[in-house]
Order: sequence, then C-alpha cells, then structure tokens
Amino acid sequence: MSEKSFPLTLQDLRGLTAQYPTPFYLYDEKGIREHARRFMNAFSSRFPGFREYFAVKACPNPFIMKILAAEGLGADCSSMPELILAQKSGLTGDQVMFTSNETPESEYVYANLMNAIINLDDITHIDYLDKALGGLPELICFRYNPGPLRDGNALIGKPEEAKYGLTRPQILEAYAEAAKRGAKRFGLHTMVASNELNPDYFVETARMLFELAVEIKEKTGVAVEFINMGGGIGIPYRPGQKAIDYDYVADKMKAAYDAVMKPAGLDPVRICFECGRPFTGPYGWLVTKAIHEKHIYREYIGVDASMADLMRPGMYGAYHHVSVVGKEDAPASKTYDVVGSLCENCDKFAVQRELPEIEKGDFVVIHDAGAHGRAMGFNYNAKLRAGELLLREDGKIIEIRRKEIIDDYFATLDFKKLPGFKA
Ligand SMILES: *Cc1c(COP(=O)(O)O)cnc(C)c1O
Repeated sequence: MSEKSFPLTLQDLRGLTAQYPTPFYLYDEKGIREHARRFMNAFSSRFPGFREYFAVKACPNPFIMKILAAEGLGADCSSMPELILAQKSGLTGDQVMFTSNETPESEYVYANLMNAIINLDDITHIDYLDKALGGLPELICFRYNPGPLRDGNALIGKPEEAKYGLTRPQILEAYAEAAKRGAKRFGLHTMVASNELNPDYFVETARMLFELAVEIKEKTGVAVEFINMGGGIGIPYRPGQKAIDYDYVADKMKAAYDAVMKPAGLDPVRICFECGRPFTGPYGWLVTKAIHEKHIYREYIGVDASMADLMRPGMYGAYHHVSVVGKEDAPASKTYDVVGSLCENCDKFAVQRELPEIEKGDFVVIHDAGAHGRAMGFNYNAKLRAGELLLREDGKIIEIRRKEIIDDYFATLDFKKLPGFKA
C-alpha cells in the first residue's frame, strides 16, 4: 500500500501519453489551491494583513503563479526573469518581494520600476542601490543573518557559513544609514532554514526577529512595518513524515508577537512568509516510463527522465518517493536502483529501493517533485528538459510548458557562422 497518491489511473495515463509522451511534470490545481487556502487561513486569521510571497524559483511557471495569485499570494523573486514572470502573472508593486543576492544594478533598477519591495542582502548595497536608483526607495528591507546565534539545518547549513544577509551589528547600522539617506519605511527579513519539518523552529525564528525588531527600534528609532520570515517550511518527502501544522505555528507565533512586539509599541507589524516548497512540492509529480532493465551487480530500472529533469536526488541525495502506476498495492518484492541516462553515476532517482517488480513500459512516478523540480533542471549531456502539464479542477489536463526540443538547445549557437570557422 502506498501512502502517497497520484491523481491519475493507468487508464488515464495511457490516454494522456498518446498526446504527451513521457517524461513530463504533472501538477494538481486542486491540491495547490486547497493547501494555499489552509496556509493563508492559518496565518491571516491571527495576523491582520498577513502576506505570503511565493518563492518563484520553486516553480517558475506563470500558470501556477496565477493560480497562487488568485489565492492571495504574491511573488518572491531574485532575478530579472523572475520579476518578469511575476508581472506576467499579474503581480506588481508590493505584491512582489525582491530578495536577491549579488544583485546586478540593472535588476535593482527593474525591481524599483515595478515598485517591488527591495530586500538588501548586504550593508554595502545601500550605497550601491542609492547610486543605481539615484536615491533610495521609500520602502526598504534588510536580510538578517544571525550567524552563530542560530542553528541552521542540514540543507541550508550553519548561518555563520551562509553567504546571505547582514550581521547583527551591521543590521543596526543599516537601518540608521538607510534612514539617513531618506528611506521612510522598513522591513526585516531572514531565511535560516530549508525544508525544515520542526514547527518550533519557525516559532523560535519569529521570536528572534521580534526581539531584533524591538532592538532596532530602541537603538535606531526605526520601527519596521513588516517582518518576513523567509521560506524553509519543509514537506514530508518520506512516507511517515509529518507535515507542518500551520495552526500550531501561527498560534505560537502570535503568542510570541503579543509578548514581545506589543509591549514595545511595535503593533501592528505585518507578518510575511516567502515559502515556495510547500505550495507546489507535494502537488507535482515527474512522470516517467521504464525503458530498460539491467541486471549486473545490482538490479537497475532505466527510465526516460534523468537528473537533468529532477536534480534533487543526485545533488542532495534527497529522498523522493517512487511508485509504479497500477502496482500501488503490489508487494515490494524487488530492490532497484531507478536511474536516468546521464553519464553521471549520481543520476539515480532511487537507490536500493524496495519496489514492486517493474516491467518495461510501466509508468514510474517520482513524487513531491512540484517544487525545485523542473526549475532546477539543466541541459548537461544535451538533455532536453521535460514539459509541464496541469490537471485542472474540472479534471481537464492542459499543457503549461512544452517539452524542450533540439532547436531550444541550439538556440544560442549560430551555425551560419560555423562554415568559415578555422579549427
Ligand atoms: C529558496 C528561498 C525561498 C523559498 O524556499 P522554500 O524552501 O522553497 O520555501 C524563500 N526565500 C529565499 C530568500 C530563498 O532563497
């Protein structure tokens, strides 16, 4: 019995793949909307004006972003194309958070033109931004890196080894400096965890930021108008893991807010998140087909997708659940490595995984691939990345990004110049 579900039957898939051959990503609109409502309700009901800026990098598809925007989400961007994706999805102004790092001048200029909230990653960027824009924007945010004051987690590492954000002394100086240069409104941001499943971690992070906001007010006179908790809410990739209980986190955060912010005269302050993973991760699947089986020192199943479509297992050794469509209830009688076609031995979707016996032609589904999945794809070995399909609430399936073709790969090469090239 598989605890993780997939919305299509074998029959559905046979029909679908006649039109859209594997591999492809499939997203479930209903699941995305229901989760978004649960998240927004939990926090909006406790924090008036609450906002969530969807981290575009998790699933940079404007069809998905429009669905999330309709559920009240904004966008968190960190590059010019991500800013443009936000605009194409109907998001602009303070619906867009620009949390970037090592940012080129042109991207600050663009973010400012669309009135996005600019979140600075370093104290030296105050001057850089001031010069790039010919004056600071009215509203500005700073990203705090607590360093050794806060534990990180395995995926993001220790804060003091992370390249992001301002130190504690710097952040106090930064608000004073930005105010001196004419900024009038302020936000505070941090992002210290990734894929974290411990709900208390977020409560502790909130308390840390609330206490910092109080210190900023006492030492610089600046009262922040919003606090952005960043992303980092994990999802249960493994069967048996428990998803974060949003009501629990929101309740405890509210208690910390009432205890720390209110007595300091810092109420109301808008609370925000910029999560990506939980909004699309569990509602996206990479659908592949078994095309080879190989029996050497181990048993291998070769599928028609590769690490170029989904990098997480190869890059982080991340677990993604694998199921075989139509064999959900079959006994896991085999132990396989499920592998892609890259000339890299880390190109394995599953290693020594107990699965039902797989035959060539079986649909092998990789679960929880909806965030940091297609988005992290790449073209190594000249692999062409999979397209994306969306299962609408009414049961219809539409294509929201086509599969790459060879011309896409060649788009940056000008073969017309090649004949005269002397080797
Ligand atoms: C990656 C990232 C996020 C989103 O992280 P998730 O784990 O997808 O929620 C948010 N903010 C920043 C600055 C990030 O780098």
